[in-house]
Amino acid sequence: MSEVQLENVCFRYGDVVAADNVCLHVKEGEFFAVLGPSGSGKTTVLRLIAGFIEPDSGAIMIGGQPMHNVPPFARHIGFVFQNYALFPHLTVAQNVAFGLESRRVPRDEITRRVRDILAMVQLQGLENRRPSELSGGQQQRVALARALVTQPRVLLLDEPLAALDKKLRTQMQVELRQLQQRLGITTIFVTHDQEEAMTLADRIAVMRDGRVIQVGPPREVYEHPITYFVSDFLGQSNVIVGQVVEKDDRHTVIRARSGDLIYALPETDRAVGEEVMIAVRPEKIRLHAERPETTATVLDGEIEHIAYMGTSLSYHLRRPNGDQMIVFEQSGLHPKPLRVGQRVYLTWEPVHTLILQDEVEAS
Ligand code: ADP
Ligand code: MG
Repeated sequence: MSEVQLENVCFRYGDVVAADNVCLHVKEGEFFAVLGPSGSGKTTVLRLIAGFIEPDSGAIMIGGQPMHNVPPFARHIGFVFQNYALFPHLTVAQNVAFGLESRRVPRDEITRRVRDILAMVQLQGLENRRPSELSGGQQQRVALARALVTQPRVLLLDEPLAALDKKLRTQMQVELRQLQQRLGITTIFVTHDQEEAMTLADRIAVMRDGRVIQVGPPREVYEHPITYFVSDFLGQSNVIVGQVVEKDDRHTVIRARSGDLIYALPETDRAVGEEVMIAVRPEKIRLHAERPETTATVLDGEIEHIAYMGTSLSYHLRRPNGDQMIVFEQSGLHPKPLRVGQRVYLTWEPVHTLILQDEVEAS
C-alpha cells in the first residue's frame, strides 16, 4: 500500500506560508504531477512528504499510516532532488550503492541490485565514472537509479528534467514514464513546465502561493480550468468579462462589457445579474470571412497579425472595443486565406465558454 494523502497540511518558513491547507490524495501506482510557478510551494510539499520538514498542522499518510514523527529513512521514499545532489567523489556504482550500504544490505546483494538498476536506466558500462565525467542526462539517470535501488514505495521527483535541453528532456520524459509504469511505483513529480505535466501525468495538481487550486487529469484541468490562473498557466486563453443576462434550459447568456452576447451551457450556479469572467481556448474558436448564420456566439474583429506555426496558424485579432483575442486554426481551412487587416467573425460553441470562479473587478 503506497497511496499518499495530505490532509489540510500547513507549513510556514517564518512569515512565508509555503503550504496553505494543502489536501492531496495520490493513488497507489499513480504518476501525479504538482505543477506551479516558481515559489508556489512545490518543493515544500515534497519535503513534507519525505519528512525533511514536519507540518505545522494537518496530517500526512503514506499507505494509510500517519507519518507524524516518522523519520525520512523510515518512510521508504526515493527522492530525486532538483540538482541531483550526487556525491562528486563517488563513482556511479558507489553513488547508487550508498543507500543500500547504509541499510546494511549484504555485499553480493548490493552488487546485484546496483547492476540491475543501472541496466534499467541504461547506464551499463559507466559504473566507474564520477558524476563530473557524465552528461546531464546521465547524471539524471544516476540520481534516478540511486532513488529506486532501495525499492521505495513512493518516488518523489523535484523538477528532475529542468536542467536538460529540450530534446533530451523530451526523451527522458518518455523513459521516465515507461520506467514508472514498469515498476508501478507511486510517483509524485514536481514541475513548473505545463507541457511536461500534461505529457506525463495521470493527474495534475496546480499550485499557487502555497495553495492547491485544482486537481484532475490533464485533459480535465485543461478543458475545465476553474480560475483564470489555471487557464493561463495551462496554455493560452481569451478572457472576457460580462454579466449573466439570461438562463434557460438551453443556454446561459452572458452580455460582455463590449455589448456582445456570449452563449454558455445552462449548467452553471451563476445567477442572472452576476458578473462573470469567462475563458475561451484559442483552438476552440473558428474564424469566418462572412458573418455566419448561427445561434452560437458571434464576435467580430480585425486581424492584426498572423503567425505561421507549421501545421497551424495563430491569428491575433483586435475587437472593435480594443480587446485583443487569439485564435489557433489548422492551415488550409479557408479556401481564400485570411489576411492581415481583414474583418472576420469569431464563433464558438457554448460548451467552450468556460465560466471561471474568479471574482470580477468592478469596471
Ligand atoms: P517551489 O518549489 O514551487 O519553487 P518552494 O516550496 O521552494 O517553491 O517555496 C515556497 C515558498 O517558501 C517560497 O516563497 C520560498 O521563497 C519559501 N521558502 C522555501 N524554502 C525556504 C527556506 N528554506 N527558508 C525560507 N523560505 C523558504
Ligand atoms: Mg522547487
